[in-house]
Amino acid sequence: MEYRYLGRSGLKITEITYGNWLTHGSQVENDVATACVRAALDAGITTFDTADAYANGAAEEVLGAALASERRESLEVFTKVYWPVGPKGPNDTGLSRKHIMEGINNSLRRLNMDYVDLYQAHRFDYETPLEETIAAFGDVVRAGKALYIGVSEWNAQQLRDGQALARANGFSLVSNQPQYSALWRVIEPEVIPASIELGMSQVVWSPMAQGVLSGKYLPGAPLPAGSRATDEHGGKNTIKDYLDDQILTNVQKLRPVADELGLSMAQLAIAWVLQNENVATALVGASRPEQVAENVKASGVKIPAELMAAIDTALAPSVVN
Ligand code: NDP
Repeated sequence: MEYRYLGRSGLKITEITYGNWLTHGSQVENDVATACVRAALDAGITTFDTADAYANGAAEEVLGAALASERRESLEVFTKVYWPVGPKGPNDTGLSRKHIMEGINNSLRRLNMDYVDLYQAHRFDYETPLEETIAAFGDVVRAGKALYIGVSEWNAQQLRDGQALARANGFSLVSNQPQYSALWRVIEPEVIPASIELGMSQVVWSPMAQGVLSGKYLPGAPLPAGSRATDEHGGKNTIKDYLDDQILTNVQKLRPVADELGLSMAQLAIAWVLQNENVATALVGASRPEQVAENVKASGVKIPAELMAAIDTALAPSVVN
């Protein structure tokens, strides 16, 4: 497993991160969740991503329990703040000083950890002054509760404004967490160039388009049992836009490319996002340990330019830019 630096910081993270959205505390039982974390650790993954809002707090609890016996210094743990967990009072959401300060304490309690490595603004808050948000994050860092600060799904101007304020507050934003895959390339024209200029990395989510790029969903065929597309806890709603016959037909055209590289289609999808040097890590989910063992083999893969072009040609009509 290869490591990359997170933004212009000294923190090294594994280029494949295990993320537990929709799985821990929800789609999968706790023993399977623990087995997935074990498989990740055994394969050399040391970086884990969760959020306070995943499974209404349960995802942080399950991940914290699964990592409890590990040496803390050997792990990089990421969580997030923005959406409410539990009661939805007026101050239980957004990026006010109050919600950030309460959010980090609640996350640390659920994770049963003294600090997280990366604390991320899960979205941009259009209602709270950015000065207040950034000052609160600076205080979280100075209190030692988070070592680094990142954001998620901020646009280029928001990244510029946030980074300028962070630097004025004595710290830096190190990362942005956007959706990015061979099918979803929205960050390429503006967010990536701005991030390079600002010293920030992308920590990318759904690199497999929620499993669609693994090629297991076939156009016109029944949905595979036990997949996200059949998950009644919420997964089937989040994946539904990708389950379009045209998209699924184009995805099948990637099979010869994967075969030529000796990769599974899941591995090809993960390797594709890692070809971009501004991507520090691919946040990869898994509902069973065998998937983790397969997916980690995408680390270190180089895709030649002509095969990158073949992927573009196959997917072009379905790509969101
Ligand atoms: P992926 O695109 O990696 O999809 C993962 C899902 O695909 C798995 O849960 C599994 O679902 C299926 N899968 C995984 N490996 C294989 C395989 N080898 N073969 C076939 N199917 C496979 O990413 P996610 O959508 O899970 O997101 C990853 C992480 O990104 C999250 O855990 C979270 O940390 C982060 N995230 C952040 C967001 C944000 O707003 N910042 C939003 C969403 C995610 P199944 O087996 O059930 O079909």
